[in-house]
Amino acid sequence: MISPNKKLVLQARSTDDMNDWLNVTQNAISAALTEQPIRRGTDKKMSGATATDSSAAAGSGGGGGDAASGGGTNNSSVMSLLRAVDGNDKCAECTQKDPEWLSLNLGILVCLECSGLHRTLGVSFSRVRSAKLDTLDWAQQELLFALGNTRVNSVYEANYRKGAAITLSDGSVDSSGAEKPKPTTDRLSRERWCKLKYVERAFVKPVTPPPGATDSTPASLAPLLFSAIDAGDTLSLYHALACGADPNWHDSKREHRTALHYAITFNDLVLTECLISSGGARLTELDERRWTPLHTAAFQADVKMIELLLLRGGGSVKDDKDVWGHTPIEVANEYSEFKKDVVPVLERFSQSADAKAAAKAAKQNS
Ligand SMILES: [Zn+2]
Repeated sequence: MISPNKKLVLQARSTDDMNDWLNVTQNAISAALTEQPIRRGTDKKMSGATATDSSAAAGSGGGGGDAASGGGTNNSSVMSLLRAVDGNDKCAECTQKDPEWLSLNLGILVCLECSGLHRTLGVSFSRVRSAKLDTLDWAQQELLFALGNTRVNSVYEANYRKGAAITLSDGSVDSSGAEKPKPTTDRLSRERWCKLKYVERAFVKPVTPPPGATDSTPASLAPLLFSAIDAGDTLSLYHALACGADPNWHDSKREHRTALHYAITFNDLVLTECLISSGGARLTELDERRWTPLHTAAFQADVKMIELLLLRGGGSVKDDKDVWGHTPIEVANEYSEFKKDVVPVLERFSQSADAKAAAKAAKQNS
């Protein structure tokens, strides 16, 4: 399967499975072509990286940006594609059919009632949007396509056993157990379920600590993020993050890079978005050269990655300087053989940021 961003080789377990997938894919493509163009990348928005995007990113608990907030556009073609993802035909919590709401950071679709309960968890646990009405940028879409209800529940419900006693995060045991909601389950029971599942993470199967680790602290688990990036395995990365692996840990054996720097060196947009959106990876961490993730993307000459980082509020094009005093633009100019593609993107953003700062100053002075 060839998309504008990547090529995928898919293998089905049987001919029936293959035919099912072909049908789903062809229907989704047909819907996308006949209903409304997919807002792939919202390219205009990506290149503009508006102040609203940056401020939303800063206000989202250290997580990703929030380009969807300015939506209001009917997004039925995207919803068709989202519904085709494994398990997304039913609410991730109560199995109500045809869910129309989504969680950007968790990567799931939920029904209206469960979306309300997700909102009560707070944005550090679930950032809820309407799959129908909000506009998603391409990176948000790609992460939602890579995750989906079945995969995410394989992480967050792996250790769920109906009615079994639950060990809470403070070490206490709740012997009343839990039951996955049904469409008819009352609000209070659903609320308790969502809190146990995402706040307590009571049903997440613990990951095996990496070789040499003597405990399961966030720093001890962080090498698992690097292993998942090596393998290009989004679900393993997501699982390690759900188990608390620290995305802002620096690996002294890898030039003091964080997992975010590391994913960028692989030019992997989905893993990068997963680290930022699902993991809360910071875009301001520095490696041993004092390179931000943006410096790293500039070195990699990865225009799409640069646009993603800028959209998520990732650093300053002009002011972030490495140990040699080089800004991301200067890194691109100095090292990249593809600088003719990269530098204009960075300069355009820089000029846009200057214009916004001048407009803001003028407004304050008036
Ligand atoms: Zn539901």
